[in-house]
Amino acid sequence: MKTLGLLGGMSAESTAIYYRELNRLVRERVGGLHSADLLIWSVDFAPIAALQAEGDWDETGRILADGARRLELAGAQAIVLCTNTMHLNAPMISGAVSVPFLHIGDATAQALKARGVSRPLLLATRFTMEQNFYKDRLIAAGLEPLTPDEADRARLHAIIYDELCQGVVRPESKAEALAMVAKGRAAGADGVIFGCTEVGMLLSQDDLDVPAVDTTLVHCEAAIEFALA
Ligand code: GLU
Repeated sequence: MKTLGLLGGMSAESTAIYYRELNRLVRERVGGLHSADLLIWSVDFAPIAALQAEGDWDETGRILADGARRLELAGAQAIVLCTNTMHLNAPMISGAVSVPFLHIGDATAQALKARGVSRPLLLATRFTMEQNFYKDRLIAAGLEPLTPDEADRARLHAIIYDELCQGVVRPESKAEALAMVAKGRAAGADGVIFGCTEVGMLLSQDDLDVPAVDTTLVHCEAAIEFALA
């Protein structure tokens, strides 16, 4: 089994889900007492979030590229960046190491296609919904991502940073997210992307009448496929 290097802490809530899910998948596939071979470099998220808000993506890229280098030096055989948003820095991070960088957008596009989705509603941070780094990856894979309207994007962003990333899950926020999904359905969405690694804390496939792809879970599946290949 190969050693995976997780760049985490963005937020710690979702990195905990990665840890649990990666180990669960290895147990399910290999059995017995087997668990994932992992290195985790978990950042203090507050300074990263402040840099995001300032738009200083060069500095976030430098910090995360340095983290990826440390993981490689420690023996990681692939890098798993446990956040969709920070894939904005994917070129800088993957360029800093010689081991593979397992892109969350590729795992997501593959899973959407496998579920027969072509026009997914992207539920994510404002950065992921409004900039092109993530949507372009999906478009290049032949998908047509939709996003909520301006007011809903702002509200969803606040739910992610002010609640989910701080371990707070509110039923009122879930109702708001479901209302966003209903609007997306009316606009032609035939699936939903939980495009932030914390969204699965709020919504699940059981809440929806169209296929959902939880980026955290499909990223973990792709990582374990790599580790066990
Ligand atoms: N975990 C989130 C994501 O997947 C948001 C936090 C961050 O900005 O990294 O986008």
